[in-house]
Amino acid sequence: MALQRQKKGVFPFPEVSQDELNEINQFVGPVEKFFNEEVDSQKIDREGKIPDDTLEKLKSLGLFGMQVPEEYGGLGLSNTMYARLGEIISLDGSITVTLAAHQAIGLKGIILVGTEEQKAKYLPRLASGEHIAAFCLTEPASGSDAASIQTRATLSEDKKHYVLNGSKVWITNGGLANIFTVFAKTEVVDSDGSVKDKMTAFIVERDFGGVTNGKPEDKLGIRGSNTCEVHFENTKVPVENVLGEVGGGFKVSSWLSPTWWSHFLSCPCSLVQKKKMELTADYACTRKQFNKRLSEFGLIQEKFALMAQKAYVMESMAYLTAGMLDQPQLPDCSVEAAMVKVFSSESAWQCVSEALQILGGSGYMKDYPYERMLRDARILLIFEGTNEILRMFIALTGLQHAGRILTERIHELKRGNVTTIMETVGRRIRDSLGRTVDLGLTGNLGVVHPSLGESANKLEENVYYFGRTVENLLLRFGKTVVEEQLVLKRVANVLINLYGMVAVLSRASRSIRIGLRNHDHEILLANMFCTEAYVQNLFSLSQLDKHAPENLDEQIKKVSREILEKRTYICAHPLERTS
Ligand SMILES: Cc1cc2nc3c(=O)[nH]c(=O)nc-3n(C[C@H](O)[C@H](O)[C@H](O)COP(=O)(O)OP(=O)(O)OC[C@H]3O[C@@H](n4cnc5c(N)ncnc54)[C@H](O)[C@@H]3O)c2cc1C
Repeated sequence: MALQRQKKGVFPFPEVSQDELNEINQFVGPVEKFFNEEVDSQKIDREGKIPDDTLEKLKSLGLFGMQVPEEYGGLGLSNTMYARLGEIISLDGSITVTLAAHQAIGLKGIILVGTEEQKAKYLPRLASGEHIAAFCLTEPASGSDAASIQTRATLSEDKKHYVLNGSKVWITNGGLANIFTVFAKTEVVDSDGSVKDKMTAFIVERDFGGVTNGKPEDKLGIRGSNTCEVHFENTKVPVENVLGEVGGGFKVSSWLSPTWWSHFLSCPCSLVQKKKMELTADYACTRKQFNKRLSEFGLIQEKFALMAQKAYVMESMAYLTAGMLDQPQLPDCSVEAAMVKVFSSESAWQCVSEALQILGGSGYMKDYPYERMLRDARILLIFEGTNEILRMFIALTGLQHAGRILTERIHELKRGNVTTIMETVGRRIRDSLGRTVDLGLTGNLGVVHPSLGESANKLEENVYYFGRTVENLLLRFGKTVVEEQLVLKRVANVLINLYGMVAVLSRASRSIRIGLRNHDHEILLANMFCTEAYVQNLFSLSQLDKHAPENLDEQIKKVSREILEKRTYICAHPLERTS
C-alpha cells in the first residue's frame, strides 16, 4: 500500500518524459476539439442514445483502442496517458461509460490474461471499434455478491465447447456489443478430487448464437449509454474461449476493476470539476443579488475553494496511482485504485451539487448542464463495486496487512507474555511523549518541501494514531473485525484521507521544486486538504475508541434495529397527543 511505498514510487511524484508529454498532447488536441465542438451532450441525454456519427468519429480517433497494444492496432497508451485522455472524454458521461465498459472491463481481460490466439483474433477489431465489447457479471439476484451468480457453463461431452445458459442485467453496451466477457459457474475438479462450482470467464461472440438482449433501460443519468439485459440460451462457447484459467473467473474480475477505478473515474471527475468551475465562475462573477456579485459572498466563495480542493486531490490521487501502475513490475495497486474511486466519486457528487447551487434556480433547469451532470455523477457511487463494498475492501486489505505484522505480537499479549506486555507498555509511554512517527517526510533528508512541513507532520501524527488504533482494534475484535462494518468504514475513511494527503504532499512538493506556475496556489490547496483530512481523521479515530463519547455505534445499531423491525419511522407525529 502507498504508505508502505512512502518513498519509493510515491516520492517524488511520478513524471512523464517530454517525449511522452508531446505524444499525449498529439492525441489530446483533436479529441478535445471534437468534444468541445461536435459532441452534443444535451441531445445524447435527451434522446438516450449516442448518435451513430458520434460513435464513428470516436472510432476514427482511436478511442476504442486506447490501451490495446499497438501490435494489435490500438494506441498502446500507458496508464498515465490513458488517464489524460480519459479527462477529455469525461466531458460526456454517456460516452465515458460506453468507452470504459468497452475497454476498461469489456476487452481488458483479453489484454491481461488472454492467450496469443485470443489477442490476435479479437483485439484488432475491438481496437478499431468495428466490434464493441461488454462485461457481463451482474444478474438479477447477484449484484455485489458476485459469487452467487447462477449463469452456468457446462462442458460438452466431446469437451470441445461449453454450453452457456443464464441472464445478465444492466450490462453496459449490452445491445451494441459483439464480444462479451461473460462470467459463469463451471464444475471444476479440485486437487483433492472433489467437484466444485467455480466462476470462469469466457469470451463470447454474439455470432455464437443464443445471445439476445432486452431493450435499453430508461435511467436517471448517463442516459446515452446502452444498458440492457443480456441472455444466453444454449450458447456454444469453444473451450479455446475460456479467459484465463477454468475456475479463475474471480481473479479475472478482480484484476479488471482497478483499471476502471483509477482511471475512468477520477480523472473524468477532475476535468469535469475544472469545466464546471469555469462555467460557474462566469456566472458568479456576473449575476448580481443585493447589489453585489454572487462572487462577493463568502458562502459562494467557499464553494469555489471546495471544488478546487477536491479537483486537486482527485487529480493528485489519480495520477499518482497511474504513475505507480506504470512502473515496470506492475505493482498491485488495487487498494489505491479503490481509494481513488471512492474519494473521486463522492467528491464529484458533492462538487456538482455545489456548482448547481451556485446557479440557484437556473442550475435546476435543463437549459444548463448541471442537472444532467448531477444525474450522470450519481452512478459513480454505485457501479464497479459500490462504495460500501469498496470501503470494506480497503479497510480489510489494510487490516490484513497490519494484522500480518501484529498477529504475533497480539498472540503474545493474549498469552500474557510478560516481556511483550512490558515492552508494549514501555513503548506506549515513550509514544505518548512523542505522538508521532518519523516517516522521513521532513528534515534534512525529507521528501516533502519545507513549506508543506506542517502538513507532513499532521500526516505523520495521523499515521501514528492510526497504527495504535489498528493494534487496539485487532486486539479487541480479532478475526471478527470483518463483521464490524461501522468500524471498517472508519478505518477505510482514514486510509483514504491518508492516501489523499500523501498524494497532494508529493505533487505539491514536486511543483515547488520545479517552479511550476501557480505552485503557491497548490501549496494552499494541499495544506487546506491536509488540515481538513487531519481533523477528520482524528474524529474517525476517536470514533473507533470503544469508550469515546464520539463513538455512537451502539446507538446507531439500536436506532436502525428499531426501524427495521417495524420497517418504518417509529416516532409519533409531533401533533399527536396522549390526552
Ligand atoms: C448504469 C449501470 C451500468 C452497469 N453496468 C454493468 C456492466 O456493464 N456489467 C455488469 O456486470 N454490471 C453492471 N452494472 C451492475 C452494477 O455493477 C451493480 O449495480 C453493482 O455491482 C451493485 O449491485 P446491485 O445493484 O445488485 O446492488 P446490491 O448488491 O443489491 O446492493 C444494494 C445496496 O446494498 C449495499 N450492500 C450490498 N452488500 C453489502 C455488504 N456486504 N455490506 C454493506 N453493504 C452492502 C450496496 O453497497 C448497495 O448500497 C451496472 C449498473 C448500472 C446501474
